[in-house]
Amino acid sequence: MSAVIGVVALQGGVRPHLEMLGRLGLAAREVRGAAELPGLSGLVLPGGESTAQGLLLERFGLGEALDDFVHSGRPLLATCAGLVLSAKRGWLELDLVRNGFGSQLHSFEAESDGGGHRLVFIRAPRIARVGASVEVVVRYRSEAVAVRRGSLWAASFHPELTDDPWLHRRVFGSVL
Ligand code: GLN
Repeated sequence: MSAVIGVVALQGGVRPHLEMLGRLGLAAREVRGAAELPGLSGLVLPGGESTAQGLLLERFGLGEALDDFVHSGRPLLATCAGLVLSAKRGWLELDLVRNGFGSQLHSFEAESDGGGHRLVFIRAPRIARVGASVEVVVRYRSEAVAVRRGSLWAASFHPELTDDPWLHRRVFGSVL
């Protein structure tokens, strides 16, 4: 059976993730139900609106299924609102300030510390504290903007909205 990466498609920016995974040669599809999760090799939680996404997760009965997915050790990439949900569900020990980089009007692009990565921020959550179990992967102005704990990765920016699939490749490289 070949590997399929799911993109949780209840709300938010699903398509750019599907396209980026496709560019890496990974089969990807939208996921809306808990019954679809066991067959997946990896998962993306896209950006969007985390309050709406949290409500929809409960309505679609996906909350606990996602907890199980994270604990299964399969790779998961959470972006922006997905990062907010990851902290809320206790998967990552982080303190966040929602919209901490400003409102929609303050969406911006920047370069990661040390260069190399173009970062797109859209009403991004700001990581105020990183717990000891969490590793910082990317910083911007000395602040953590991408983190991981084992197979679970989360970014406050939108890696799917640039031309460079570097973060998807790092997260899902083991599946390729
Ligand atoms: N500000 C949004 C939230 O907290 C996240 C924005 C995004 O995903 N681009 O839900």
